[in-house]
Amino acid sequence: MTVKDLADLLRVAPAQVIKALLTNGVMATINQTIDYETAAIVASDLDFQVKEAPAPAVAAEEAPELEDPSLLVHRPPIVTIMGHVDHGKTSLLDAIRETNVTAKEAGGITQHIGAYQAEIRNQRITFLDTPGHEAFTAMRARGAQVTDVAVLVVAADDGVQPQTIEAIDHAKAAKVPIIVAINKVDKPDAHPDRVKQQLTEHNLVVEEYGGDVVAVEVSAKQKKGIEHLLEMILLVAEIQDLRANPNRPAVGAIIEAKLDKTRGPVGTVLVQNGTLKVGDFVAVGSVAGRVRAMFNDRGKPVRRADPSTPVEILGLPDVPRAGDPLRVTPDERTARARALEAQREQHQEVATPTASTSLEDIYAQIQAGSVKDLNLILKTDVQGSIDPIRSSLERLSVEEVKVRILHEGAGNITESDVLLAQASQAIILGFNVRVEPGARRAADTANVDIRLYSIIYNVIEDVQKALTGMLEPVYVEVLEGRAEVRQVFKVGKGDQIAGCMVVEGKMSRGTPARLLRRGQVVHSSQIASLKRFKDDAREVAAGFECGVGLDGFSDVQVGDIIESYRREKATP
Ligand code: GDP
Repeated sequence: MTVKDLADLLRVAPAQVIKALLTNGVMATINQTIDYETAAIVASDLDFQVKEAPAPAVAAEEAPELEDPSLLVHRPPIVTIMGHVDHGKTSLLDAIRETNVTAKEAGGITQHIGAYQAEIRNQRITFLDTPGHEAFTAMRARGAQVTDVAVLVVAADDGVQPQTIEAIDHAKAAKVPIIVAINKVDKPDAHPDRVKQQLTEHNLVVEEYGGDVVAVEVSAKQKKGIEHLLEMILLVAEIQDLRANPNRPAVGAIIEAKLDKTRGPVGTVLVQNGTLKVGDFVAVGSVAGRVRAMFNDRGKPVRRADPSTPVEILGLPDVPRAGDPLRVTPDERTARARALEAQREQHQEVATPTASTSLEDIYAQIQAGSVKDLNLILKTDVQGSIDPIRSSLERLSVEEVKVRILHEGAGNITESDVLLAQASQAIILGFNVRVEPGARRAADTANVDIRLYSIIYNVIEDVQKALTGMLEPVYVEVLEGRAEVRQVFKVGKGDQIAGCMVVEGKMSRGTPARLLRRGQVVHSSQIASLKRFKDDAREVAAGFECGVGLDGFSDVQVGDIIESYRREKATP
């Protein structure tokens, strides 16, 4: 509930709740949502008795895999277009939109809402309007897999290029089938056969060459081959037998969101299962709201959206993030509870980002049976180093774990590599390469393990050690705060509280700390208690006084220095 809700419920002024929160070390505004535990502490501080109501039942709404197969009906495939820059992704999306968009009603111009539906032989296909494997993998990294088929655009005059290979690897890592659209066949220097030949080298063998990859020759410019491409998409989708249950509360994913000046927060939802209706209560990531209005890809108001349909929704109090899941809930209260849960998870992610794998952890995960593949991304300075490293690494595969190289290439480590690693729980190995600044930031945020080497032997050795649990993590200590002891108080029997002034950084309860006297470490433990005046505090910032109790130490003297720090895994 929000601070205001709580104040209303307790019949006290919101300021009183905010004050009670502050004493407990929580800074909150009147409209901020607080969780049950926090609300309970505040309420009991204000002399109320607290009892938790049973959570509303939300069980049957999820787990589509548990759904009765007889309730499932076919749903349109969702397609992402990928390929090298300038090979015609946008042109192809435009050509499809112009020739095959649903409902030919007057004035029905497609709106850009992030996706649209095309129609062929009375069957619909949903296209995501943000082409490229980066967008695709970014969504995946957020936990949203919303693509059934990847169309790989390769310009017939330019052939397979670095981003073509990236796109192939990203689609394969997500186990999404690929259809090749050989574009620009109208050009005099088009060589579709050469493209097919090159694709073979990247394990995409087209049907003509005895493989099972569908390739279609198109010209986005002359709008040729478009229908054939759509038919092939339907064919590939048919094999996947995509189904959903339209008669259940909707689940979906946000594919685009923005703040519109006149309409407020607007999000485009791709409905993945169930039917989304106007009036539904929804939890969208950490945002809870109610669908007030919906618009389709033609800008027309609609009241319902069935599986695989993209719709813009209005009525959310806040802008969600692309990739956020959407879930219809039975009532407002459940929507809020879900949103709060997501919010809490996000906070935890920030505090201890553990979603990704690191080379040190892999052994434990193998032992626990939670991984069967060691996914790697390999970047080297020159193409020539890739083969020897790859074959040595692949040879390390053992029965329990297979070493899979999701992507390899010459060049520095980019953001796209980090996204792929994040989405596929992979580790990035760099040999004589650098990490681009954007990629470093992304890796730090997502906790993606990047390891740089300059000796091939060390690359192989580290992976081997990791697979056998012999790789020891290296930790470094990072100073968090420093405080000077100004006064010493006796409490209880023999215990001490050091009255300190925080002179640098911050002091936080529970963190490792040491006590220094004349520059020498006298004691090492952790901050057991932290007080601001008489109240417990979670952290106290520089410039403020606080009372610090160190675990197992009662010989503090005025003039001592307390340093708190955190342990971080060292990046090699
Ligand atoms: P993207 O970067 O992959 O989205 O590529 P674009 O769709 O922006 O196209 C890049 C360039 O190729 C543009 O100048 C297009 O006009 C041109 N182009 C795209 N498709 C075709 C085609 O089928 N034939 C020819 N001749 N040019 C094309």
